[in-house]
Amino acid sequence: MENTPLANRLHIAIFGRRNAGKSSLINALTNQNLALVSSVAGTTADPVYKSMELLPLGPVVMIDTAGIDDVGELGELRIQKTIQVLNKTDLAILVIDPETGITEYEQDLIAKIKERKIPLISVVNKIDQYPEINIQALTTDLNQDILPVSAVTNIGIDDLKLALIKIAPKDTEPPIIGDLIQPGDTVILVCPIDSAAPKGRLILPQVQTLRDLLDHDAMGLVTKETELELTLKALGNSPAMVVTDSQAFGYVSPRVPTNIPVTGFSILFARQKGDLPIYVKGAKAISSLLPGDKVLIAEACTHHRQPEDIGTVKIPNWLEQRVGDKLEFHHVAGREFPENLKEYKLIVQCGGCMTNRKDILYRLHSADRQGVPIVNYGILIAYIHNILDRALEVFPDVLTIWNK
Ligand code: SF4
Repeated sequence: MENTPLANRLHIAIFGRRNAGKSSLINALTNQNLALVSSVAGTTADPVYKSMELLPLGPVVMIDTAGIDDVGELGELRIQKTIQVLNKTDLAILVIDPETGITEYEQDLIAKIKERKIPLISVVNKIDQYPEINIQALTTDLNQDILPVSAVTNIGIDDLKLALIKIAPKDTEPPIIGDLIQPGDTVILVCPIDSAAPKGRLILPQVQTLRDLLDHDAMGLVTKETELELTLKALGNSPAMVVTDSQAFGYVSPRVPTNIPVTGFSILFARQKGDLPIYVKGAKAISSLLPGDKVLIAEACTHHRQPEDIGTVKIPNWLEQRVGDKLEFHHVAGREFPENLKEYKLIVQCGGCMTNRKDILYRLHSADRQGVPIVNYGILIAYIHNILDRALEVFPDVLTIWNK
């Protein structure tokens, strides 16, 4: 459980005013001192992510956020970061301070939570200090059930856990590859080991695809691109599919007989984590880019950059070669994603292996709503190398959208 990647954990975020007892509540829920507790309002500055196991929900990540009533210039920034957390929250807990009750801060936050259709539990904390509090009146004010709890004496904590279990969203992520193959099939996974590959291990999408093959009673055969032809010969029978690192698409595609489907890890993950039709529509916009257009490159983590980095070097070069002139690139990394996207002619999103599906869907739908095309690394690379048709063959419905 401890090794479950952050992206695969249920994201439970705790919101509320400064000093409402959010950090204490996390500690009470987890029975550990995970969050820094202080009576000084505003102790939690940036959102704090803590991975843990919350039985019987399993691996979760608890997100402690700054107060929604923070003040000053920095406070404003902290509120923005708190609101950004909503974009990846699977389940929200609103902590109400009995001293202040329900104010416009709580109402405003609830509106944002409802807008995003996030399951919500509201609790009023410090019930040990305010035993006379009128829960019924608060419930009426909020138009929603409120649980009385005390993070100090543990009153109501078991009820809160039960409520979390009851409303936790069920896992609805599509499989990575399992539905595209049959039990007993062999799939070749092409994993280049170049200077960008981490030392001594495979990367997360490769490991997760391999695991999904095993979960679906299929066989995964891992090879580098330079040994692909040997692997195909050694196998004797045709594999059910070849899945390659996107950057090796151009090398792999002509070396695999046309009767064998070839796709990319990032295309599999574009479907599992995002919305393949939206990305494919985004790919169509690449041909309409004009010199000077603004392109946003969004990476969901702040990894160490290699000299030939995909997001800052390769993709900008490929796009400028296509356009035949300069483009204006903006980069964001980690949890940052601008709210207003209208200035961009194209958004290029990374595979998002370090974030959850909710976060990627938020980015996709935000771009789609604002009419800004969005594509991901894998689809862009397949398009640039003129092999998107082949890479989409395993998804006939999406191929139809692409060919329209
Ligand atoms: S940039 Fe994106 S795809 Fe690359 S490692 Fe980070 S989250 Fe994963």
